[in-house]
Amino acid sequence: MKYKIKEIFFTQQGEGKNTGMNSVFIRFTGCNLWSGKEKNRGNAICNFCDTDFYGTDGVNGGSYTKEELLEKVKSIWMGESKRINVVLTGGEPLLQADQKLINYLKENNFYIAIETNGTIEPPIGIDWICVSPKPNTKIKITEGDELKFIYPQPNFKPEPFEKLSFKHFYIQPMDSEKLDSNTNRSIKFCMKNANWKISLQSHKILGIQ
Ligand code: SF4
Repeated sequence: MKYKIKEIFFTQQGEGKNTGMNSVFIRFTGCNLWSGKEKNRGNAICNFCDTDFYGTDGVNGGSYTKEELLEKVKSIWMGESKRINVVLTGGEPLLQADQKLINYLKENNFYIAIETNGTIEPPIGIDWICVSPKPNTKIKITEGDELKFIYPQPNFKPEPFEKLSFKHFYIQPMDSEKLDSNTNRSIKFCMKNANWKISLQSHKILGIQ
């Protein structure tokens, strides 16, 4: 099996509970809720995406076996710890990240976080599961570490997700031309709803990747 990867880079996690954690981000190509092509955005199930996950032409992008992927991640890890932290993201990483890959990374003492839209069952053994639900989809991952709701969205509310078994619930302002207004609304929501905390995209505020 070869994994199609848009890009791989070392940075600090910018969002949610693990903000500031040194991590190698592995961005998988493809998503099940949008093709990634602008001409299809209007008809996509998810149409507010702010990420380029199309193709394999990003930094360190390409097709990798699990062994090649591990070596690439090791080669760009700049963290101080022996344990390497990876964030599997996309696109939708669970279209590709399978049990063989997770087992292999765990055998090599990796800490594995994933950012997913929650519509695909995950392999066993992932250390940190962050689900960001999208409207008009069926959530299959109903427990995990972090639920991150992009706010606000028309006809799609955060409250029903509170009954799911996540340790942390985050509201993250939608990044659009209305970001300031979305941030204000997000803060107000969190002030009225104690179960939810604000997550800001600190990497964008700080100007890091
Ligand atoms: S589910 Fe995530 S990666 Fe897929 S189109 Fe929506 S925001 Fe982008």
